[in-house]
Amino acid sequence: MNDLEELKELLSVPRKIIITTHQRPDGDAMGSSLALYLYLQQKGHAATVISPTDYPDFLSWIPGNDTVVIYEKEPLRSKALVAEAELIFCLDFNKLYRLEELGKLIAQSTATKVLIDHHLEPDDFAEFQMSRVSACSTAELVYDFIIQSGDRELISQDIATCIYTGILTDTDRFRIPTTTPAVHRIAAELLELGINHTQIYEAVYETFTENRLRFFGYCIREKLEIIKELKTGIICLETADLKKFHIQSGDTEGVVNYPLWIKGIRLSAFIIQRPDEVKLSFRSKGTFDVNELAHLNFSGGGHKNAAGGRSPLSVAETREKLIAILAPLKNQLNK
Ligand code: 5GP
Ligand code: MN
Repeated sequence: MNDLEELKELLSVPRKIIITTHQRPDGDAMGSSLALYLYLQQKGHAATVISPTDYPDFLSWIPGNDTVVIYEKEPLRSKALVAEAELIFCLDFNKLYRLEELGKLIAQSTATKVLIDHHLEPDDFAEFQMSRVSACSTAELVYDFIIQSGDRELISQDIATCIYTGILTDTDRFRIPTTTPAVHRIAAELLELGINHTQIYEAVYETFTENRLRFFGYCIREKLEIIKELKTGIICLETADLKKFHIQSGDTEGVVNYPLWIKGIRLSAFIIQRPDEVKLSFRSKGTFDVNELAHLNFSGGGHKNAAGGRSPLSVAETREKLIAILAPLKNQLNK
């Protein structure tokens, strides 16, 4: 980051700070936000994490979770906190629209904004940008920020747990190509600080309800469509499917990964009817760029191998639109 010295100067006296992240936060969003929160508190600042929306139980055990303010539940308190803030840290998103209503508040705020993020093509809304697309996670960037600030010794076991959670989830368990030797070195250092990596794994991945696991089975058995010539798997979920299994926010997290378990499948698409819009999630293997696919066709974005978007059409029409877009890309998918 070019302006780290200037930012350090700003942080040399106690500040009122907001840390915020994208709606429907994932493990990296919450892990990186709470790691930064715990660090800034230790430095004597009055920091608060505000999440635009609530999140599922598999993330609500992360250290510092009890202090998080949920904008959709406490809009007035959130507005007051944003109004008082001197600095706003924006973590794990590249566009303010990913914060829904809260994004508008942040856009209007005169507080100094600091972006820490690893998504492609961030919008230019922050005075300070720590944006690195090659980073495996925002949690890795928060780790770098703490180290560059000369505060390695302030990384407590709780901060280490938060950072590890972000790295674990955004690398999909150290699988994605962004998992560099440096990432493993960071993970090793976090383990040396005494974190319980087995417990973290269980808390994140092995706390399904029976119903949720059966719902995953249903998605794979009844809903998965394989288009062999496009090396693509698609799972579409309508409101009726969600009602049948009493699906709540967060329950569908991870379903999109399963089609890629099939040998030869390069692209997975998950299309779901949310209350207000149709949402798409994409995952790919190798060179097929789903950030571009989401950006060009579904008002979205993300990373090369994991991206998302939305559609004003119905689920069925969105599926048809997607297949029509993919048909001419057959060669790319078969590369
Ligand atoms: P997911 O499929 O898990 O919702 O998202 C995959 C990746 O794409 C994440 O990095 C997420 O931040 C990003 N992403 C998901 N939806 C959108 C969207 O609507 N717009 C943008 N810019 N990024 C998205
Ligand atoms: Mn992330």
